Order: sequence, then structure tokens, then C-alpha cells
Amino acid sequence: MGDVRPGVVTGEDYRALIEAAKAGGYALAAVNVVGTDSVNAVLEAAAAARSDVILQLSNGGAEFFAGKGYPDADEARVLGAVSAARHVHLVAERYGVCVALHTDHANRGLIPWVEALVGWSEEEHRKTGKSLFSSHMLDLSEETLEENISLCAGMLERMARIDMSLEIELGVTGGEEDGIGEALEEGADNAHLYTQPSDVLAAYEALQSLGHFSVAASFGNVHGVYKPGNVKLRPEILEAAQALVQQTWNTGPRPLNLVFHGGSGSSPEEISRAVSYGVFKMNIDTDTQWAFASAVGGYVRDHDRAFRHQIDPDDGTPYKKVYDPRKWLRVGQQGMITRLQRAFEELGSAGRSIA
Ligand SMILES: [Zn+2]
Repeated sequence: MGDVRPGVVTGEDYRALIEAAKAGGYALAAVNVVGTDSVNAVLEAAAAARSDVILQLSNGGAEFFAGKGYPDADEARVLGAVSAARHVHLVAERYGVCVALHTDHANRGLIPWVEALVGWSEEEHRKTGKSLFSSHMLDLSEETLEENISLCAGMLERMARIDMSLEIELGVTGGEEDGIGEALEEGADNAHLYTQPSDVLAAYEALQSLGHFSVAASFGNVHGVYKPGNVKLRPEILEAAQALVQQTWNTGPRPLNLVFHGGSGSSPEEISRAVSYGVFKMNIDTDTQWAFASAVGGYVRDHDRAFRHQIDPDDGTPYKKVYDPRKWLRVGQQGMITRLQRAFEELGSAGRSIA
């Protein structure tokens, strides 16, 4: 408590947050956001739970932040992410918890997006001594392992100069997220959904001297929520990767910073097992989307006349106070906040803020 100033954490403070989570046996929720409505809901939920949190943007979420009608989608992806980050830097401190800012999956075609954002962070670092984002992700799991590692090494060297962290992906997480990843076929051979510990060791050897990084390893986790039984979670793969790096490099226990993608739909037991193997970050998107949408859906069903008439044609009731977007957006936020309380409890981060 009180170790780190509340607000956006970068560099040393972000690393302290990760170490506190690993040492304390809990993990941080990394919640995808698409606008100030979802950003503020996450901050409110984190403050209420006294939990630190990670806010992240996919390239599609970043584009949405700048506006779907923005004339240039590539530019929108950059400016939307910068806009989101600026909003969080302005308001997060007053919520009293630590907030890390991150961008989600970027495949080869999105490397220019990440490079542009690192450019913005370099500029910000020159001015304020603090990067705009805490970390970015490169998901080059569709490339060969050698190509994946060497491109990540180049990016990490550049990011390390301004004390930023890089998340990499090894192995393929199934499911669909902004067109990245792969469709999950029923009965498909799922062997490639499991990361080899030897691949993790190769990445560690190449990256550990360059800067701070984390690894999204596949252990049968998928994006989205699917019918149960299609894929078997094998979190012991994470344990094997930790053990191999520890033995080979003679490090302390759990040397790797592991990330759990596709946390939506996971049972509390699956989550706590993954956390016990050194997972410090669990992504949650599908479940918070559903929580927002189902709450709004309930509101619309309960007030269906207000969504068809400005003024009731039968009795003249004005519905302005009911259809005001603040009313139903707030209901959506409350749905998301309730779902996040459960995530913070299951991850063990509730009540553990280091701010
Ligand atoms: Zn993911």
C-alpha cells in the first residue's frame, strides 16, 4: 500500500506492479476498452475494488476511439490510441489505483501501428520522462519462431530505451479477435494451441538482456467464449516453461512474466491455477462486452416504448429522461462494473492495490 503513486504506471512502477502481483499470488485484469464509457467503467470498478488494473486497446478499439468515420483508418488506429491514453493519464490518478496502459495483438501488418505509438511515447518521454503507454504487444505467432523472436528483439531494444515493456506471443491462441488468431473448428487438431517450453526458453535467451518483456503462451486458451469441451486447458504447460527457464538460467522461481489471453469463460479454478504458475495478467474482453450489452438489452426491453416514441402516442408521456444516452450507457457501465468485480475477486487483485 502506498508504494507507487496512483495513476498510469510505466517503467519501474509498472515492473513493481508485476512483481507485487507475482509475489502476492494474484493477477491483474487487462480489460479491452473502446471509448471513454468503457475506460471510465473500468476505472470506477478498479477504484471500488481497490484493485490495480490494465487498460488495453486492440487496433480496432483504438480506431473506434478516434471514430469509425475518421477518414484514414491507419491514422485513426494511432490517434485513437493516443487519445485514449491522454484521457487515462488525465483522470486515472484521482481514482486512486495504479493503471497500466497497453495495446493488444499486433501482427506483422500492424507493426507500423506499434512503431507509430512508440514514436508518440518517445516524444512524451522526452517531455515528461514518462512514456504514453506502459507496454505494447507484438503477436507474431503466425511467423516462424526465429522471425517472431528477431522482430520482437528489435522492437524491445527500441522500447527499452524509454523504459517500456513488450508482450510477445508464442504459439497460437485460438479464436477470433479483430481478425487475428484463427477460427476454432470443432474437432480440429489442437496440438498447435499449446506452446512448447523450448520455444519459451529460446525467446527468454534472446530477449532477457534487452529489456522487460512478458509472454503470452498458449495452453489451450481461446479468444471468445465457445461451447465447453472443444479445447482442454493445460496450464501445467506454463509451469513447465517456468521450470525450464529457471533450471537453464539458474534464476529464482517463476522467472517469466506470463499473460493469459482469452480469460473470458474460464472457471475460477482454471484462473487460480494459471495465476499460481506466474500469470500476472489476464485479458478479459468477451465477458465484459456481454455484461455491457446484456445490461443495455435489459434496459431497452424494460423501456421499450421509450425507444420507439419520443412522446408516448397514447398518454403523451415524454420519454427524454429514459432514452437519454447517459441513462442506458450508464446501465451498460454498471453491468461491466459488476462483471469486473467478479474478475478482480477471481484474480485475487481486489483490495491489493499498491497505490
Ligand atoms: Zn489475445
